[in-house]
Amino acid sequence: MSTTTSQARIIVVEDEITVALSIRQSLQLMGYTVPELAASGAEAIDKIRRHAPDLVLMDIGLPGKMDGIEAARQINRRFGTPVIFITGHTDPTTFQRAKKTIPAGYIPKPFTEQELFTAVELALTRPSPGQNHVAAKITANGTTTEKPDRFRTMIEDIPALVCRFLADGTLTYVNAAYCAYFNKSRIDLIGSNFLQYAPKVDQQRIRRQVEALTPDAPVGNFVHQVVTPTHEVRWLQWTCQAIFDDSLNDREYQAVGSDITERKQAEANLLLSDQILQQMPSAIIVTDLSGKIQRWTGKARDIFGYSASEAVGRPVSFIHLPQSDIDSTERILAKIKETGEFFGEVTGITKSGKTIPIEASAKPIFDKFGRPLVLICTLRDITFRKKNEQALEESEERFRLAFENANIGVWLIDLEGRLLRANNRMCQILGYNRDELERLNVNDVTHPQDVDLPLEFVEGSLAGKTDHITFEKRYIHKQGYVVWANASTSLVRDSFGQPLYFISHVQDITRQKLIETERERLISQLETKNTELERMTYTISHDLKSPLITIQGFLTLLEKDAANNASERFEQNIKFIRAAAKKMKQLVDDLLEISRIGRLPSLRETIPLSEMIREAISMVAGSINVRAAKVYVSHDMPTVVGDRARLSQVFQNLIDNAVKFMGTEPNPTIKIGGRIEGNFAVCYVKDNGIGIDPRYHHRIFNLFDRLDTDTEGSGVGLALAKRVVELHGGQIWVESAGAGQGSTFWVKLPLTATNPDLP
Ligand code: ADP
Repeated sequence: MSTTTSQARIIVVEDEITVALSIRQSLQLMGYTVPELAASGAEAIDKIRRHAPDLVLMDIGLPGKMDGIEAARQINRRFGTPVIFITGHTDPTTFQRAKKTIPAGYIPKPFTEQELFTAVELALTRPSPGQNHVAAKITANGTTTEKPDRFRTMIEDIPALVCRFLADGTLTYVNAAYCAYFNKSRIDLIGSNFLQYAPKVDQQRIRRQVEALTPDAPVGNFVHQVVTPTHEVRWLQWTCQAIFDDSLNDREYQAVGSDITERKQAEANLLLSDQILQQMPSAIIVTDLSGKIQRWTGKARDIFGYSASEAVGRPVSFIHLPQSDIDSTERILAKIKETGEFFGEVTGITKSGKTIPIEASAKPIFDKFGRPLVLICTLRDITFRKKNEQALEESEERFRLAFENANIGVWLIDLEGRLLRANNRMCQILGYNRDELERLNVNDVTHPQDVDLPLEFVEGSLAGKTDHITFEKRYIHKQGYVVWANASTSLVRDSFGQPLYFISHVQDITRQKLIETERERLISQLETKNTELERMTYTISHDLKSPLITIQGFLTLLEKDAANNASERFEQNIKFIRAAAKKMKQLVDDLLEISRIGRLPSLRETIPLSEMIREAISMVAGSINVRAAKVYVSHDMPTVVGDRARLSQVFQNLIDNAVKFMGTEPNPTIKIGGRIEGNFAVCYVKDNGIGIDPRYHHRIFNLFDRLDTDTEGSGVGLALAKRVVELHGGQIWVESAGAGQGSTFWVKLPLTATNPDLP
């Protein structure tokens, strides 16, 4: 009971307005609320419907067809609102009629305020204002039993929601559980609509269902949603009974309801999990602990071809081809027992007898005491995956074979330059075995003067700007020698575009490189020789011409002298002609000499240079003596291999020149020495003579080139020396600070014979 009596709302039904106003005033002074006064039975019913008062004070003698007793009877039936009759005099018939309505009280007119207060309080403090059956207890004659009260108390106390409502849904009674459910007072609820908390759609539907109840089928079950005052959406289920009045025109409903939200949710969850199971890409099978199938989802049907009715009840082994002990059903069940689960590949067998690879997992489900209840098995048809795996394996194998057997070096380099994988050819090119190579960095096998991978390519390819690069570079073979290669590199990305590694195709071009270098060397040699030949042709024609012209000139003179019989210059002129012819012969001899050097077979002997130089000095001793030059030869001259006569000729020429171009030096001195430098003997012939301007250092080795035409000579000596030294695989050059500074001629000869031209 949430209402206290002082808050009670009372409607007064009294046709005499002054009496009505006076009663209202008294009630208000007592603290009650009087929302309305009514002057007739019909007006009373209407106002009670609207205000749902706690109590009605009813005058029995009302105007119109409906007197107070009839009005009370209807109020009682429709709203259950307690009614106290107020009446002046009552005949026994009227009183009997009034008693039948089981009023909440009876106040004879005239009455005092005290009598009014007592009657009102007694009526209001009855346990239920809605049940005027109770009021029977306080009726004047006390004839009612306690039965209705016990019934009311029971209704009041049961946890189910109990209510009564009119055809339009207006609540006329609610029990305590109903009030508690909506968290509202009875006063708030009575008079409001039964479906006020239901969504519109439910309201209309329930209304139609309620209206459809008939005296023959007066009971119906309805379910609807409500939005509770705390904004929670819940489900209510009602059993509703229509109660018809005698004329069957008017009706009232009594409903008993309960909250079925949890059940609804459980149902929804069940539905959801069932739908989820059906949607699963895998077949879900539930079996008992012995492997007997209990549930079989739609996907299982797709995979195995059996319908649920064909599969449920059979052992799971009927869809499983036991190939070996390892995956037999018994083994799987034993494994689950032992480890709590199974995961593996098994061979399934379909209704049509086809075998299919299945990926299976199975796990028990436990009850709250930890006892296994059933096994949940998830089975997936992996035919497609298997095919893909096989195709992948085959293509991997093809790729591997192509990679391994490629006749070009291929390797994968990670983004930090580490070698990830190398093929056979790559190992061959660099001389490492695969294990050794795959532990290295590309730096470790790259020539120090080359870059491993050009930085701009690495950056460009990572930034997606460059695809690949082809470049020439040098690697270092495991044995230390240079390997020339043509490398073509590109960046490999994964399917998301993320860089994975670089792949390089490496072609060993060392042989081509050697051939190329040799070819370039030969071309340049040929070019030099051509230039030399051109210069020689020019020089020969020029130098041979001058004695010829001399001869021609003097022959003309001789002819003239002979014609004039002038014989006095005869002898003189013949002398000139002879000298010129001699000069020509000398030139032609020198030319022959030079041409022979390249052709004549030379001896290949060991030549201790000190010994050979001594011989050379003795050959030119005449001129040394004439000039009184001092010659010093160091003792520890190296030993070389070559043509003794030719090399002796070279040193004779150098010593002879040193004496010849001594100039006016008062202390002519010649120093000869040598040392070993690597595989070469480096010797010198140094004088303190006239020296050579550095501008002409090169020229003097040309054929017939002479800087000083006053001195005797043909300009062939140094050209010849150069030829001999080069044929031995050596070099000759001069050092001189300039005129008057003396000259040093250097000869570099290999310690062992290298030139293939030499036999
Ligand atoms: P030739 O001695 O017959 O003139 P060479 O070929 O031996 O021819 O020498 C070429 C030229 O080099 C000489 O004419 C001379 O001008 C210069 N020359 C050679 N040796 C010396 C030297 N020791 N000191 C200065 N000039 C030299």
